[in-house]
Amino acid sequence: MLKDQLYLPDVIFNSILEVTPEFLREHGIKGVLCDTDNTLALDNRKDIIPEAAEWVKIMNEAGIKICIMSNSFRVRNMPVVRALGIKYYKTRSHKPHQWYYEPLTEKMGLKHGEVAFLGDQMKTDMVGANRADILSMYVMPYKFETNPFYKDIFRKRRAKERKFFKIYNELHGTQFDFPEHIKAEMYEEDIKECVY
Ligand SMILES: [Mg+2]
Repeated sequence: MLKDQLYLPDVIFNSILEVTPEFLREHGIKGVLCDTDNTLALDNRKDIIPEAAEWVKIMNEAGIKICIMSNSFRVRNMPVVRALGIKYYKTRSHKPHQWYYEPLTEKMGLKHGEVAFLGDQMKTDMVGANRADILSMYVMPYKFETNPFYKDIFRKRRAKERKFFKIYNELHGTQFDFPEHIKAEMYEEDIKECVY
């Protein structure tokens, strides 16, 4: 697999609520490794996103296990773990390095192929999942990153992700792109570069 193709998600969702038990069962998935920032919680804040509690409840009722796999620190993740009642979690997980995918799968009592990854960043979440050879599920970031120190890094990362939306759209006949409020934070030349 070419390095860049590791960025490409297996499937893209506009919202975590589109990740249904039916979809997961169709793919033999019994557990989801889940990113925190901009996937389940607001970026760098302890508040969970409005849809997260409902989604976790749906997953619990369906018997689908959730495990938070975050690159941030424990102190950042614990309010989210507690708010959502998440049983399994790994902080400082060093995605996209491969150290924790198998141990976490085992900890959940599941086998390779029964676990998918859900996250909002291709460089960490999708590359990690694709390298681990598990179903890579991309969800649109809830908001553009608010931390001024990371803003420029994320402008570049989101610009690259838009190029992969284009590849994905051509492959699947879809029309995924960032919502307007995300594009509004990006550089205009990066928006123009890929016209959809
Ligand atoms: Mg994230």
